[in-house]
Amino acid sequence: MVSPLPDLTKTTSWKNFKRLVSYAKPYKLGFVAAIIGMLSYAAIDVYFLSQLKPLVDEGLAGSNAQFMKWAPLFIIGAFAVRGIAHFIANYCLAWVGNNVVADLRQQLFEHIMSMPVTFHDQKSTGSLISKITFDTEQVLNSVSKSLSTMVRESAFVIGLLGLMFYYSWQLSMIFLLITPVIAVIVNVVSKRFRKVSKNIQGAMGEVTTAAEQTFNGHKVVLTFGGQQREFARFAKINKHNRQQRMKMQATKSASVPIIQVIASFALAFVFYAITSDTLRDSISPGTFVSIITYMTMLLRPLKMLTNVNSELQQGMAACVSIFSILDHEKEKDNGDKALVKASGALSFKHVDFAYAKTDNTSLTNDEQGAKLALTDVSFDLQPGETLALVGRSGSGKSTTSSLLLRFYDVTAGEILIDGTNIEEFLLKDLRKQFSYVSQQVVLFNDTLANNIAYGKPEATDAEIIEAAKSAHVMEFAEQMEQGLETNIGENGALLSGGQRQRVAIARALLCDTPFLILDEATSALDTESERHIQDALHTLQQNRTSIVIAHRLSTIESADKIIVMEQGKIVEQGNHQSLLAQQGAYAQLHSFQFE
Ligand code: ADP
Repeated sequence: MVSPLPDLTKTTSWKNFKRLVSYAKPYKLGFVAAIIGMLSYAAIDVYFLSQLKPLVDEGLAGSNAQFMKWAPLFIIGAFAVRGIAHFIANYCLAWVGNNVVADLRQQLFEHIMSMPVTFHDQKSTGSLISKITFDTEQVLNSVSKSLSTMVRESAFVIGLLGLMFYYSWQLSMIFLLITPVIAVIVNVVSKRFRKVSKNIQGAMGEVTTAAEQTFNGHKVVLTFGGQQREFARFAKINKHNRQQRMKMQATKSASVPIIQVIASFALAFVFYAITSDTLRDSISPGTFVSIITYMTMLLRPLKMLTNVNSELQQGMAACVSIFSILDHEKEKDNGDKALVKASGALSFKHVDFAYAKTDNTSLTNDEQGAKLALTDVSFDLQPGETLALVGRSGSGKSTTSSLLLRFYDVTAGEILIDGTNIEEFLLKDLRKQFSYVSQQVVLFNDTLANNIAYGKPEATDAEIIEAAKSAHVMEFAEQMEQGLETNIGENGALLSGGQRQRVAIARALLCDTPFLILDEATSALDTESERHIQDALHTLQQNRTSIVIAHRLSTIESADKIIVMEQGKIVEQGNHQSLLAQQGAYAQLHSFQFE
C-alpha cells in the first residue's frame, strides 16, 4: 500500500521554504559569499547616490575643487569593486543553486526508483519525468533569482530610504505612507500566482505525458489511423497549458504598472510639497535633486521586489510538487533475513490479493470495495519442479508471479520460500532468487554483452559467452559486425522479437537463480526461432524451480504441476495426464486449442 499523500497545499510555504533551505546547508559558505557580494553591490550603489548632494551643492557649485579632482578616479575604482561583487554574488549563488538542484534531482530519481510498484501503476511516466527535469529546474531558476533580488534590492531600498530620511524626513514620510498600499496589492497578486503556478506545473506534466504516450505508441497510432484524434487531444492539452501561462502573464503584467501608478502619486506629492512655503527654504538644490532621484530610483527595485514573490511562488509550487513525491513512503523492506541462494522450495498458503483500487489509498481495500485478484491460492513446489499456470487472460497468472517478487504484498495468507515467509527476507536478497523472462523483453541502449550481464555485472567474458551460446544468442551475434560488443540501440531496436527473447534467456542463464518465472510468448515465432527458443528455455529450466505463465498448452505438457485459474481462483490442479482424465476445465481448454 502506498502511504496517503500528505496535503502539502495546506501547510505553509514557509515550512517548504525551510525544507528547501536545508538542502543548501552543505553549501553555506558559497551562500554567505553570495550574500556578501550582493550586499557590497548594493552598498556601492547607495554610496554613489549619497554623493549626489555633495556633487550638486559643493562640486558643481564650485566650492570644493578637491571633490571634482578625485571623482573620475574614484568612479573607476568603485565600478571595478562593484563588478567583482557582482561576479561573486552571481557565481556563488549559481554554485549553491546548481548543487541543490543536482542533489534534489538525484534524491528524486532514487526515491522514484524505490517506490512500490503500486505507485508506478498510478503515476504516469511523463509526469514523473517532468518532475525530475522541469520542476527541479523551476526551483533553481525562481528561487535563486528571487533570492538575489530580495537581498540585493532590499539592501538597496533600505539604503536609499536611509539617505532620504537623512536628507529630508518630511518628504520621505510620504513613501512610508504608500508602503501598506503596495503591501496589500502584493499580497493579493501573490495568492493568484501561487494558484496559477500550480496549474502550470500540472499542465506541463500533461503535455509531457501526452507526448510521451503518443510517441511510445507511434506505430499503434499509425496503424489505427489515430493521428487526427491524437492531434486533437494534444491540441486540447496544449491549449490548456497556454491558457494557464497567459493567466500568469496577465497577472504579472498588470501588477507592475499598478504598483508604479501608486508610486507616482508619491512622486507627484513631493513636487507639490516642495512648493509649499515651509519646505522651500530648508531644502538645498542638492537635497531636492537627490530626493527626486532616489524616489525615481526606488521604482525599479520596488518593481523587482513586487515580482519577487511571484517568482518565489513559482519555485515553491515546484518545490511542493517535488516534496510530495519525496514524502511518499518507499517500498517496504522490513525483512531482515539474508538469503544467499534458496534451495528452490516454494509454497502459497491461502493467498488472497487485491490491487489498490484508487489513488485514495487512505482507504483500506475493504472500504474501496476492491475485488480480489487472487482468492485462496494454495500450492506447493519442490526444488527443480516446473509449475504451469494456465487460464484465460485476467485470471490472475501474472499477479501470482508479481507477488513472488513482492512487487505487491499479499492481502491475506502467506508465500513461503524454503519454509520462510518471503516478507521476512531482505528485499534485495529475495529478488536475487528470481530470473524473469517475459514476452516484453526490456533491453538497454548498450552492447549485447552488457545486456546479457545486466543481472550480474561482475560476470567474466567467458561466462557471458557461455550463456550466449546456451541461449542461441551466438547464432545471430556472430553475424553482427562487432559480435557481442555490438550496441543494440535504444531498447534493443536492432533485434527481432525472437532474438530479444534469446538475449533475455541468456541474461537469466547467467544469473543462475534458483527460481525462474517465465511469461511465455503468446504468438508463435517462425519455426527456426521457436526451436532455438524452446531449446534455450529447456536448458534454462533445468535444475530450477520454474513458474511458467503458459499461453499455449503445447509447451507445458511435461510440467510437473499444472494449475488452471479462473477469476483469481484455482479451479484445477494436477499434471497433464490427470487433468485430461478429469475432463474438466483443462480438458476443455485443451480440446479448444487443438481442435
Ligand atoms: P493474467 O496474467 O492471467 O492475464 P493478471 O494477473 O494480469 O491476469 O490480472 C488479474 C486481475 O487483476 C485482472 O482482473 C486485472 O484487471 C487485474 N490487474 C492486473 N494488474 C493490475 C494492476 N496493476 N492494478 C489493478 N488491477 C490489476
